[in-house]
Amino acid sequence: MRESQGKNVVSEADRRRLRDLAAKAAEQAYAPYSRFRVGAALLLDNGAVVTGCNVENCSYRLTSCAEQVAVARAVAEHGPSIRLRAVAVTNLNSAASAPCGACRQTLAEFGDDATLILYPGEGGAAMETTLGELLPSAFCATFLEDSTKSSPSAQNVCQVPLRKPADPGATKKR
Ligand SMILES: [Zn+2]
Repeated sequence: MRESQGKNVVSEADRRRLRDLAAKAAEQAYAPYSRFRVGAALLLDNGAVVTGCNVENCSYRLTSCAEQVAVARAVAEHGPSIRLRAVAVTNLNSAASAPCGACRQTLAEFGDDATLILYPGEGGAAMETTLGELLPSAFCATFLEDSTKSSPSAQNVCQVPLRKPADPGATKKR
């Protein structure tokens, strides 16, 4: 179990770059049903940036969110040991929108409390928070410890520990 490694420092230039890349990724979205085009950009701890967009399906429930597409792509390109330093998500619909609940859990698999989350607020405001604030009490691999003790593949998985409820005042407008 790894706790957050101190302060997660992501430069202002990197934050801008991640927001820009997320917006660029959103242009590739396959969203013929909702017309809600979303893009995500992940900054990995190896410095690489991986993007994704939402991919809808006519069955609706098989739709993949941009964050989940980006995470799948990051694992495919960089392997199972990826860790998330920062995640930018945005949309081309000018909607104030943070990652959905399912995506928060997906991000928790590869992030920690300090993982920076960048998202659009009301009126296009550049908002930021952390994964720890967005998903207190994440379901964690440590809950599976008894059943995974003998499995070497159980290492380096979800490292977000149980937390106290988030302080809503911690989300700030920038
Ligand atoms: Zn989502």
